[in-house]
Amino acid sequence: MDLVRLEEHLSARGEPAFRARQVWEWAAQGACAYESMTNVPLGLRRRLAEDVPFSSLRPVREALASDGTEKALFETADGRPVEAVLMRYRDGRRSVCLSSQSGCPLTCTFCATGRMRFGRNLTASEILDQALHFRRKDRVNHAVFMGMGEPLMNLDAVLRACELLPDLGIAHSNIGVSTVGWLPGIERMAVEGPPVRLALSLHAADESLRSEIMPVNERYSLNDVLDACRRWHERRRRPVFVEYLMLDGVNDRYEQAVALAVLLVPRHAFKVNLIPYNPTDASYRGSGRAAIAAFRSTLEERGVRTTVRLTRGRDIDAACGQLAARA
Ligand code: SAH
Repeated sequence: MDLVRLEEHLSARGEPAFRARQVWEWAAQGACAYESMTNVPLGLRRRLAEDVPFSSLRPVREALASDGTEKALFETADGRPVEAVLMRYRDGRRSVCLSSQSGCPLTCTFCATGRMRFGRNLTASEILDQALHFRRKDRVNHAVFMGMGEPLMNLDAVLRACELLPDLGIAHSNIGVSTVGWLPGIERMAVEGPPVRLALSLHAADESLRSEIMPVNERYSLNDVLDACRRWHERRRRPVFVEYLMLDGVNDRYEQAVALAVLLVPRHAFKVNLIPYNPTDASYRGSGRAAIAAFRSTLEERGVRTTVRLTRGRDIDAACGQLAARA
């Protein structure tokens, strides 16, 4: 729901200020239409249904993976593609993976979104509407900005969305914002953002390899970004989650694990999440299980807390790095 348009509509009609909040609360609790908002006068409900689209996104296609993961492809009012994913876990966790942009202007070589055309930043309402889509089907209690786009390049909208996600049942401590290392965004969020988690897509422990696979490293270098993460940790007293994609023969050798361990100081400021590579059109191969396990041991022997990400939704191209608005 376009919340700016909603407020304009209501104030233009001289409605009391609390109406917008009332309508939003219904939507946040999973209402499917204005019709069901029984504490809003009937006439107003009808006018809203005519003048303010219930969602700023139109679902175009949906897919359900064998593990219960759902992916939805939407279109914005101006025809931009957006994808979002709902991951269901056995322990009751329901995590929505949100896009902050249609496409992505960065060109990480391993990521399918980086290969599609960049559209534009999404509005806060377009971000929230992705979550509301799934909220209408199920409870939701976690959110990650790990869909299409670089959230810290669209920080105003992302922060506004984060402010409202708790109304859907997603506490700030259960929201994760993942970044390529967009330095000004990390710095701003450390000071003024809500208490969300920060994840850094690192993927290589040396500057030249990182620049090769993530061209954004030329702009904000690894060392500067890690310093910003240390400052984040000092302010927030929370570890930064370091995401490290495991690419066979590219970044998964023993020396590279050692180099990564050297970088991640102080130890308590970081936690590593190793990510199995999900196939895209790029010519990489993912590291095998044994290589991932060995890399993990090398890190753990050096005191680096390390986990391996559980891959979800791969059979519907809904896994990390696979969002590219195709069938
Ligand atoms: N732009 C932000 C948000 C996207 S998050 C960022 O890059 O952090 C998407 C996560 O999936 C990132 O950690 C990204 O590096 C990772 N990823 C990209 N391509 C992938 C692939 N093919 N397989 C597995 N993970 C991938």
